[in-house]
Amino acid sequence: MEIIKPIGISEQKLVVEATADYVERAQQLLGADFSQVTVRFDLKGKAAGMYRVRQGERVIRYNSYLFAKYFDDNLAVTVPHEVAHYITDMVYGLRRIRPHGPEWKQLMADFGADASRTCSYDLDGIPQRVYQRFPYRCDCTRHDLTARRHNQIQDRKKLYFCRQCGAPLAPLSGKSEQ
Ligand SMILES: [Zn+2]
Ligand SMILES: [Zn+2]
Repeated sequence: MEIIKPIGISEQKLVVEATADYVERAQQLLGADFSQVTVRFDLKGKAAGMYRVRQGERVIRYNSYLFAKYFDDNLAVTVPHEVAHYITDMVYGLRRIRPHGPEWKQLMADFGADASRTCSYDLDGIPQRVYQRFPYRCDCTRHDLTARRHNQIQDRKKLYFCRQCGAPLAPLSGKSEQ
């Protein structure tokens, strides 16, 4: 499986420009002056984009891995989607409208963008969050257990045995035993 790399500086520039273009179009459509929104590429996980306000700063966050995998699609859908959240926030205020309500839908229609799709994509090839593992040993090798199994053993609800040597698994450090 090919490992996806996040988009680089030149593609990020295109995304920032596309974002500014939609803000510009909204300014013309609504005859209002919207200061440019901050754009970051620090979003992870299944969502391609997110708009949020934190401590008075309005930020659109994009997922640079999902943009790398579906670049054109994200330019056409995710960018206007997030800009429409930003503009409807500026015009109405986030608390007074539903996120994907009629105001947002109208703006997406004015953008000529597809409002019917939620921006979720398959994540094959994109490095996922690595879950914490707990080291155990038997008589022949080391076993890295999931948190669920680790907790079951710690709570004395379950014992796990090595399939090769048949010995019960014990914590590698020994310190976490109660
Ligand atoms: Zn949305
Ligand atoms: Zn073993």
